Amino acid sequence: MLLFNNKIDLIKNLSLVNDRTIGFVPTMGGLHDGHLKLIQESKKKCDITVCSIFINPTQFNNLEDFSNYPSSLDNDLEKLKKAGCNIVYNPKNKDLYGDKISSKKFNFGKLACYMEGEFRPGHFDGVATVVEKLFNIIQPSIAFFGEKDLQQLQIIKALVKNMGSNIHVQSVSTVRESNGLAKSTRNKRLSKNGRDEAAEIYKCLVYCKKNKHNGISQLKKHVLQRLTNNKNIELEYIEFVDLEKMTPIKKWKGTNKNAICIAAYHSGIRLIDNIIL
Ligand code: AMP
Repeated sequence: MLLFNNKIDLIKNLSLVNDRTIGFVPTMGGLHDGHLKLIQESKKKCDITVCSIFINPTQFNNLEDFSNYPSSLDNDLEKLKKAGCNIVYNPKNKDLYGDKISSKKFNFGKLACYMEGEFRPGHFDGVATVVEKLFNIIQPSIAFFGEKDLQQLQIIKALVKNMGSNIHVQSVSTVRESNGLAKSTRNKRLSKNGRDEAAEIYKCLVYCKKNKHNGISQLKKHVLQRLTNNKNIELEYIEFVDLEKMTPIKKWKGTNKNAICIAAYHSGIRLIDNIIL
């Protein structure tokens, strides 16, 4: 496995790839089985797998979240090597941003208006800024993104369209703990008890899927009550949305065209999850 800290060396190396396909998995490190599933998918579909590890400052709208974001480079490299990743790109801010760490402004329309777009102002501009830079450096055939960050996945698909690029964006289903909690780097900051309590978020989503026939307003009421009754969970939003447009719906669309997305805090740690139904 090769490790690059600067894009010039990486680009030089990638120019030797010739007509082999490149699979790309962007991450912010703190790797867990969810990230490793993206690597596995890339290895199945592409000749060469590149993973980036970069805690992107422009996508954090909360300084505390940014400074507490777990990082574990040695551990990550060990995991990537075991998983058979070929190339790791771990740049410093300067390599990607030069002397000015700022986001480009994108217009994703309604896609970025609700949920993460509403509660994390500037977040998607930061995500799209860094992903566009990474795509231009790595020029993958396929880029792998998790359904865990469902709105981000749709934003990236829109970004690729805006770029006029032919990168294929491949979604990968969410990897969970045995209690259902979606794996997340931020889970490292939860206690064992906290992880069990936070699994309630997924249990609510599963309840909604099982009881889809009850209708959206009834289900929303049920989840609101259930989560607000739980004194350690602070709900930020629950939204029933059109899967592709990421806009709120009042009535179900066809099967697998809807999603329910939740953001909630447990002990000050922000968690998101969703279910497609
Ligand atoms: P992050 O390091 O959190 O920015 O995530 C990097 C990539 O891993 C994104 O495409 C995420 O959607 C994906 N990812 C994060 N957690 C999971 C998970 N539990 N299952 C599947 N993919 C995930």
